[in-house]
Amino acid sequence: MTTSHYIAGRWVEGQGSDCISVNDPALGLPFAELMAASVAQVDQAVAAAREALPAWKQTNASQRAACLRGFAEQLGQRREALITLQMRNNGKPRHEAEIDLDDAIATFNYYADLAEQLPQKNCDVPLAAPGFTARTRLEPVGVVGLIVPWNFPLVTSAWKLAPALAAGCTVVLKPSEVTPLIEQTYGQIADTLGLPAGVLNIVNGKAETGAALSGHNGLDKLSFTGSNSVGSQVMRSASAQCRPVTLELGGKSAIVVFDDCDVEQAVEWIVAGISWNAGQMCSATSRLLVQDGIADALLPRLQAALDNLRVGNPLSEEVDMGPLTSQAQWLKVASYFATAREEGLQCLAGGKALDRDGWFVSPTLYVDVPADSRLWTEEIFGPVLCARRFATEAQAIAEANDSRFGLVATVCSADLERAERVADALEVGHVWINSVQAVFVETSWGGTKGSGIGRELGPWGLSGYLSVKHVTRCLG
Ligand code: NAD
Repeated sequence: MTTSHYIAGRWVEGQGSDCISVNDPALGLPFAELMAASVAQVDQAVAAAREALPAWKQTNASQRAACLRGFAEQLGQRREALITLQMRNNGKPRHEAEIDLDDAIATFNYYADLAEQLPQKNCDVPLAAPGFTARTRLEPVGVVGLIVPWNFPLVTSAWKLAPALAAGCTVVLKPSEVTPLIEQTYGQIADTLGLPAGVLNIVNGKAETGAALSGHNGLDKLSFTGSNSVGSQVMRSASAQCRPVTLELGGKSAIVVFDDCDVEQAVEWIVAGISWNAGQMCSATSRLLVQDGIADALLPRLQAALDNLRVGNPLSEEVDMGPLTSQAQWLKVASYFATAREEGLQCLAGGKALDRDGWFVSPTLYVDVPADSRLWTEEIFGPVLCARRFATEAQAIAEANDSRFGLVATVCSADLERAERVADALEVGHVWINSVQAVFVETSWGGTKGSGIGRELGPWGLSGYLSVKHVTRCLG
């Protein structure tokens, strides 16, 4: 049994009723277990964060920046252990586990720089009216609850933790019950760095623990990343207390391929957008819109590329794609295969769970999928790509935008003017042009419509943890 909750600077046993199994998805077997935090322990964590707030918010920006650089450095020192744990618990191929770690390191370093720039933002405001002065003061929002999912555990936590600490907030983090060991690293680093007790608290658990945190009246803000169904519950809890909330939710993103593309290059971008992390990405480009003039050349190449992906256990084989991370996700994806059969969809690749131990499915391609199919409209969260053909640019934009989600999109075209025009017309938070999904800490992350509220990364990520105050003085 693992000790797994970091409260008020101490590691404590969980006193909740849920026992959490930590699984190796490539084997479908548990390798650790822990007891969830109780509701009382969530209370203790929030109380510890509240107690630590006055001193932490008084630290100067360079002290907080030094602490964030310490997190980055310490992550680097744990490199091999963190890569292996992500491979084992998430089923990520090694190169993806490396990218996640590097992303988390870059995030802490980036917000260290932004923390150092904060004092300059507290400045006088020029007023047109005579007889008054005004100045801006940026203050930490206060005690923040951070609830995250399992698909990029190091990364989604870093995207919240680094700006929150940079702003001077204190934190209660609740990782996903599917990957509860990975974020313990942040508690271990806090220990190593001598972060004051209560500045960072980590409580593990399932829905009960999450609900106890999101509904806690000791929080000043809640930042949530996860599914739309839980996101709406989190929003209800926040609304009951009229408390700010940031939501990073699901997606059903489009990749638009125009007929002037190089076929092989387009196939590479499409495959990356649906097979990275076994398609368990909020940003998976799971709706392929392919122009009539290139569709007949592209689809067979795409089918071959998906069939040729090496699917296996990242710890023992050279693989392009690992298993799905949880049995629940595997069952969910399998249920969409069944729906596709019921709907009579044309399957060009995959469409089945693999007949081996662990939670594997084959990379899948359905073509000419009706626009009202559940597979076209719902987030599947697996390596399941649906394709439709289009004739004109206007039709591609209309089809891409015809979704209740609006997270990201990819546009592939040799005509860069057109690509930029289409990017501008897409109702999403981030567009890639002729690229894999490269994510940079300087650019924002977040979506429109049902994909959420607010933005992470860049200066926008820091703003989410800052409160703007103005002090106006009458000179008379
Ligand atoms: P989930 O909503 O099931 O769980 C997310 C977190 O919420 C977990 O820590 C979970 O324990 C907790 N939780 C569960 N019930 C709760 C409740 N009633 N109250 C409070 N917290 C509760 O999501 P998941 O399956 O872990 O992750 C997959 C989802 O996350 C997908 O929909 C994906 O698109 C989304 N996601 C979005 C982004 C983004 O940036 N937009 C990034 C990653 C994942």
